Amino acid sequence: MPYLVRENLFIGNIGDAAEILQSGSAEITHILSVLSSASISFFSEWRNGLMIPTKEIKKVYVGGSHGTTKDDNLGDRSRSPLSPEKLLYSLEYAGRDLKLVRMAVPLRDTENEDLLDYLEVCLDFIDQSRKEGSILVHCFAGVSRSAAIVTAYLMRTEHLSQEDALDSLRQSCESVYPNDGFLEQFKMFEEMGFKVDHSSPIYKRFRLKILGENYNSGLGIDSSKLGADPGIPIETEVERAPKVGNNCIHTYRCKKCRRVVALPEHVVDHIPGEGETSFEWHKWRSGNPFSKPNESECSSIFIEPLRWMKAVEEGALEGKLSCVHCEARLGFFNWSGIQCSCGSWITPVFQLHKSRVDISPV
Ligand SMILES: [Zn+2]
Ligand SMILES: [Zn+2]
Repeated sequence: MPYLVRENLFIGNIGDAAEILQSGSAEITHILSVLSSASISFFSEWRNGLMIPTKEIKKVYVGGSHGTTKDDNLGDRSRSPLSPEKLLYSLEYAGRDLKLVRMAVPLRDTENEDLLDYLEVCLDFIDQSRKEGSILVHCFAGVSRSAAIVTAYLMRTEHLSQEDALDSLRQSCESVYPNDGFLEQFKMFEEMGFKVDHSSPIYKRFRLKILGENYNSGLGIDSSKLGADPGIPIETEVERAPKVGNNCIHTYRCKKCRRVVALPEHVVDHIPGEGETSFEWHKWRSGNPFSKPNESECSSIFIEPLRWMKAVEEGALEGKLSCVHCEARLGFFNWSGIQCSCGSWITPVFQLHKSRVDISPV
């Protein structure tokens, strides 16, 4: 049986969701399913077997850096062959009488799963559902992923710390244990003011850390997580550009051919002279967050991995970063990290030599 957490908000497991889809519910009008892609497919097959009707409302994919989303029906998902898009969520009408609205979000229950990228879409869906009726948030066992989402929801709506939100959730449903990776991400969520701020250094470091962990654990490169190539003005990127900061945006260009290779939003700051763990967000906090790196001390600019970096996509551990247009050497990358000229260790590292790039207005 699902547990009531707040008015119009329930938490449960996959069995609870299955029962509602099959027999309907007097109360629940919305379902948020957070399951692995494999379980989502399995669940769909089960429903098809039972002839439970569904009608797709929409599918949304993340294409490229920072949650650029695109509706399925806007077509042409094959624009960039190097960057497979990743399903962010799918929305459908479901149940015997097609009265339920269900959102399915692919999320694995592992510590290095990037929950932050899915978080706001889930929390907004819960908000909306509670206005229209009642929602069941469920994962497979009802212990980690669904509990994580509901914890974040309580944090955001009631401005609770991660600990207080989880304690409060446990009063409704004792045995919930979001995995430690999720809990750590919620600390960042709290730190960012209960939102996922893509321009925050906390978020940028976190993304790099996840990319590095996935690489080092042999999962390889998830190209959908690489930042968009700023040198290719596809529509979504052009639309995004003005949001970065009006007229005064600067770009980093290859000194030799002037091709745009990075934007300020791609730069990941570090604290000059800090030790090996300067990319851990808590270490970052223990430093002075207001002391911007003194740029003159460092001979390099550190950026997030972008899609023009072919050697990165090919999966090498380290290598040169060459201009995609003129092949001039711009810098290098190394998943195991490297020491900046200021003494800081940066892991993983994607580095442009200041002497090889120009900073110029767009
Ligand atoms: Zn060039
Ligand atoms: Zn430095």
